[in-house]
Amino acid sequence: MALVVQKYGGTSVGDAERIRAVASHVAKTRAAGNEVVVVVSAMGKFTDDLIKLADQVSPTRPPRELDMLLTAGERISMALVSMALADQGVQSASFTGSQAGIITDTDHTRAKILEMRPERIREAIDAGMVPVVAGFQGVSTDHDITTLGRGGSDVTAVALAAALGADVCEIYTDVTGVYTADPRVVPKAHQLDKISFDEMMEMAATGGRVLMLRSVEFARRHGVPLHVRSSFTWEPGTWIVEEDPTMEEAVVTAITDDTSEAKITVGGVPDKPGIAAKLFRALANEGINVDMIVQNTGANGLTDISFTVALTDLESATDVCEKVKSVIGAASVATDNNIGRVSIVGAGMKSSAGVTALMFETLSNNGINIEMISTSSIRISCVLRADKVGDAVRFLHTAFGLDAN
Ligand code: ADP
Ligand code: ASP
Ligand code: MG
Repeated sequence: MALVVQKYGGTSVGDAERIRAVASHVAKTRAAGNEVVVVVSAMGKFTDDLIKLADQVSPTRPPRELDMLLTAGERISMALVSMALADQGVQSASFTGSQAGIITDTDHTRAKILEMRPERIREAIDAGMVPVVAGFQGVSTDHDITTLGRGGSDVTAVALAAALGADVCEIYTDVTGVYTADPRVVPKAHQLDKISFDEMMEMAATGGRVLMLRSVEFARRHGVPLHVRSSFTWEPGTWIVEEDPTMEEAVVTAITDDTSEAKITVGGVPDKPGIAAKLFRALANEGINVDMIVQNTGANGLTDISFTVALTDLESATDVCEKVKSVIGAASVATDNNIGRVSIVGAGMKSSAGVTALMFETLSNNGINIEMISTSSIRISCVLRADKVGDAVRFLHTAFGLDAN
């Protein structure tokens, strides 16, 4: 008997009919002789709507209360899915993140899981039931309700799968699997049968939002195989697994796009040791994640430092820079929220020459200017004007031979 964790995203539980369809699939999975644990997201765009509502009520949105508000979304879907399961003759009970034993730190709106104590979930499974767990939420070491960051239901599912020793974690969503690019941006993108954890992590980190980055990190660390598939067709989708010799090592496996970041440039900074350290320490102290960093060659003892942060962190990051400006003797702080990033990802890149050149040529031949560059051993990213990102992804998809025929 296999233990399967099934996570259903917002669209998959978007309305009453979808919820009944999910329940019927869970019942079928049970009937085939599997134990099943279900993790649900909030229905449709419910989380976005709650955030908008909070914005209308409060400009400051105290994070503890925002978390309390947002976790309501998953509570609704977990109860409804559990009801629909009862109607299918499947014994089931719903559990909040706290009841499921998901213990987090106290960093509201982006809490990290510290410990899993899924005893109640284990008991429910052993009693022959299907536990339905609210995704995206936990309880902090201060006993407050927390959320795990946008898209966090993926993390809930993987963490439960790891803690329960599940055989597979299935991520049901509104696409049939992981594609060579976001199929909504690149109509010629094609579905991958398999992809390695490493490549999927690079994709998730650079805009391939089909899986939340932390869920992929967690899955790799605990060796949980992930299966991304559709709750509309129920066909087998894409497996995310440890790299193995049967994987075709394409030089470039996928192209991602991301317009969720902004750029900050701290100008006229003294070109001497300790300056960057002070700036990035101050940002880190505020819990701000910095992504790409570029420091230009100095002239006259001065230099510029540019970096990207999530658009949602732009305001607080700018405040930090303004404060640090006088401490480090910088001349200016400028922000730019019209940037986008396009990245090419592929494990085969390690052993292949000319990949960078082809990327840059493709962009320049199409009149697209590159503003920042960063690389890892299996990824190259370029920052561009935001309105060029769609075209850039499509041109690169063609140039690297990924278009479906
Ligand atoms: P869910 O609500 O089920 O968690 P998400 O919206 O978080 O769904 O993720 C699914 C979406 O991810 C798809 O609708 C698709 O537009 C987007 N996406 C981005 N990049 C990719 C990719 N490379 N392959 C598949 N989907 C992708
Ligand atoms: N409902 C949450 C969000 O929209 C979590 C999730 O769907 O994974 O971010
Ligand atoms: Mg998601």
